[in-house]
Amino acid sequence: MRWPLLEPVRTRLADEQGALRKQAATRIALCYPSPYHVGMSSLGFQTIYREIHAHDDAAAERAFLPDDLQAWREARVPLCTYESQQPVAGFSCLAFSVSYELEIAGLFDMLDLAGIPILREERDERHPLIVCGGPLTFSNPVPLAPFADVIVLGEAEELIHTLCDALTLPRHELRTQLSRRPGFYVPELSGSWPGVVKAEDDRLPARSQILTPHTELRSMFLIEPERGCSRGCTYCVMRRTTNGGMRTVDPERVLDLVPEGARRVGLVGAAVTDHPRVVELVRKLVDDGREVGISSLRADRLCARPELVALLAQSGARTLTTAADGASERLRKALDRRTTADQLLHVAGLARQGGFQRLKLYLMVGLPGEEDRDLEELAELAAEISRLVPLSFGCAPFVAKRNTPMDGAPFVPIDEVERRVAYLRARLRGRAEVRPTSPRWAWVEYMLAQGAEDAGLAALEAWRAGGTFAAWKRAFRDRGVRPSRGRRVQDGRLRLPSLAAWPTI
Ligand code: SF4
Repeated sequence: MRWPLLEPVRTRLADEQGALRKQAATRIALCYPSPYHVGMSSLGFQTIYREIHAHDDAAAERAFLPDDLQAWREARVPLCTYESQQPVAGFSCLAFSVSYELEIAGLFDMLDLAGIPILREERDERHPLIVCGGPLTFSNPVPLAPFADVIVLGEAEELIHTLCDALTLPRHELRTQLSRRPGFYVPELSGSWPGVVKAEDDRLPARSQILTPHTELRSMFLIEPERGCSRGCTYCVMRRTTNGGMRTVDPERVLDLVPEGARRVGLVGAAVTDHPRVVELVRKLVDDGREVGISSLRADRLCARPELVALLAQSGARTLTTAADGASERLRKALDRRTTADQLLHVAGLARQGGFQRLKLYLMVGLPGEEDRDLEELAELAAEISRLVPLSFGCAPFVAKRNTPMDGAPFVPIDEVERRVAYLRARLRGRAEVRPTSPRWAWVEYMLAQGAEDAGLAALEAWRAGGTFAAWKRAFRDRGVRPSRGRRVQDGRLRLPSLAAWPTI
């Protein structure tokens, strides 16, 4: 197709290395409901792309939420794939990888641009099968149910092959067969959604297929030396109970898979620094002259393995990032997050020694039972750290997720979250930068994270009404959407002993 709006697509394609092309009877449009620069940084998306191409007689082409959505709408250009620039509506299946709750709006945008009815009940067999999977399915895929024909739950390296086989069947048979298989949720037929599935270990490690300069991680080859986590932080979807704890890949295998020409390598995983041989792996990569990034640095591991900080500095990193998560020791203990102030101070010292320009700490605000004395403790710690190294906080409102022990914990009112962020900003002025994410959109995320199908339908109404925060608020109210009270209320067993009372919504 020669629509001028596809010019940037052609430019990006020309700059890519590793895109796959194949003639096949089953053609899947692999869709990412955020723009290209986000989607191409997703290791899961790239892995499923490779797996589909490895399947007999199946091929994948990629589609992303256009950067300039309004221009696409006005020009009435249908959503097209990158590889062949054909409209996605002509494919047998659209498979969406949904990372988190707010991407549901991107799903609506893409279906709408494709000219495909958004609601499942308004589609029939002439339309492509709409499949959703991705990280969101580890916690709560139910708001996607009114829109998806099939939802793939959890790690999809094997499930995608089952799906490719099923795509050759008549639609009713496909639905019936998949509804009986582990890892597939067919909203029309399945009573409730089954559990998350994990892939066989020999499918690991996930790794980049395509390198592109048009992402934030510019031409970085991503690879997953471990999957999952052996720890049990009570707010985290990736905790040990979700997909069988941590599974590691030998450094030798990781190194074999890194292409000779990859100058930048990103080690991705929930708990990369818990890998027992991570130092050895990073040392080898750095000795080969590569720039190395690690997605998850645990403070206790950096203290135990200071060489890791030195190696990261040597490979060219300028910011050292780790997580505090709770503002005080009391909160961190209650969350089973066990990072101590001493460890964070120690890491700051290592950052200084390594010549890092900045230490960045992730922090959640609005945790159950959080008080100003917790924020005060953080401010005192920040003052000490900032004497060692410039400091910034990535500050996110706490959002309780399903499939965690904190499921059902309420969202602290938006104005209270804003007050706490303002308090921190005031206390940290001149010592640390505070970069908060929006409490309003965190609340929308919370309503979807804790919601059921009615939350998904409210999302559609909000999207149709323009997608402003006011539209979301109105849609949740009009539909009477109430967040789940989760296991805490249902079985009465879950307790956070040191946090006496959770604030009300
Ligand atoms: S927050 Fe990190 S350390 Fe804790 S369970 Fe999740 S992945 Fe593991």
